[in-house]
Amino acid sequence: MALVNEHFLKLPNNYLFADIAKKVNAFKVMHPKADIISLGIGDVTQPLCPAVIEAMHKAADEMGTANGFRGYGPEQGYDFLREAILKNDFLPRGIHLDIDEIFVNDGAKSDTGNIQELIRWDNSIGVTDPIYPVYIDSNVMIGRAGTVENGKWSNVIYMPCNAENGFVPQIPNRRVDVIYLCYPNNPTGMVITREELRKWVNYALKNDTLIFYDAAYQAYIQDDNIPHSIYEIRGARRCAIEFHSYSKTAGFTGIRCGYTVVPKDLTAATLTGERIPLNPLWYRRQCTKFNGTSYISQRAAEAIYTPEGKEQVKKTIGYYMDNAKQMLTTLRSLGFECYGGENAPYIWMRVPQGESSWKFFENLLYGANVVCTPGVGFGPAGEGYVRFTAFGSHEKTEEALDRIASWSQG
Ligand SMILES: *Cc1c(COP(=O)(O)O)cnc(C)c1O
Repeated sequence: MALVNEHFLKLPNNYLFADIAKKVNAFKVMHPKADIISLGIGDVTQPLCPAVIEAMHKAADEMGTANGFRGYGPEQGYDFLREAILKNDFLPRGIHLDIDEIFVNDGAKSDTGNIQELIRWDNSIGVTDPIYPVYIDSNVMIGRAGTVENGKWSNVIYMPCNAENGFVPQIPNRRVDVIYLCYPNNPTGMVITREELRKWVNYALKNDTLIFYDAAYQAYIQDDNIPHSIYEIRGARRCAIEFHSYSKTAGFTGIRCGYTVVPKDLTAATLTGERIPLNPLWYRRQCTKFNGTSYISQRAAEAIYTPEGKEQVKKTIGYYMDNAKQMLTTLRSLGFECYGGENAPYIWMRVPQGESSWKFFENLLYGANVVCTPGVGFGPAGEGYVRFTAFGSHEKTEEALDRIASWSQG
């Protein structure tokens, strides 16, 4: 008899966005003519930039020749891309990484979910709340999260981020083995200052804590004082693994490419206290379970580091950030309390007092035919907030804002 991994049964039945889709569909059935604008799901909308398209065409043509054909590539990625990463994402920030510390992947979701295979099942984990659901759910699947009660997992330490604490999570007053941080943050759109990040690194070094740092939105940082990488902080090489993605940076949500940094000085302990470097373990894991990102995707990623690629990618990010600015201005002028949106493509908005985030979601859907994401879907501290994304077109975003204005003033 094959016994099922019962930890899966503990997961909430539905993925947040499936719940949203269900409610939107119910609305559509009743109002078939309504034209719904989604500022909900975090997917990009603007086309890939010309430099990327050109690189992909070229790579595809190469694959059709005897000399240019590539089969399985190195599991950890081609050197041409890893070198471009070192040279462009880290060296200019004074960060010196070795090429073997870069693991190219098929997007950050896979690795943020898989990385927990490197640690024992009984480590304690801490998360900021609200949070990208992948971090917790991937731990639930192997039984590390415990059981759920009132929307919280028994073995997870939640660090609430809300308007009251300025969205700065409090450093735990006890030891936590593993902590997930994501900055700029999805869903709140808030960032962490160098000083605050230094506190986390110092905490981690002092308590022998491993930090999983998700930097998927670092390309959206506009303020020069905000760190793009945790390795800008001294000592982070000894306590942090960092995840990057080209999905939001360059519209690669359908291309699939990102990378993970596992520094060689990073270790975790055995029960007898021996220190084990995690870099060779991750290498071993990847060689066993991952056969590399496609050559064409990696050439596409390389192209964003060319002078033209950089310019073009920056332009698209600027396009989304113009939406964010417009959203902040309009929503605030309507009296809504808004956060984020200055260094990230998300606006985190407090719903009117006394309403739940799901109730507001429905009111907005029925009243303005605009879709947002209920904050509580990202964790208990998200209750009372909703998330809007800036990934729409200018036209749709503007129209959505006009509708929200008429609805809220009507
Ligand atoms: C979108 C996103 C990612 C990236 O996912 P990919 O798998 O690279 O597309 C990672 N982390 C967060 C928080 C995200 O929102």
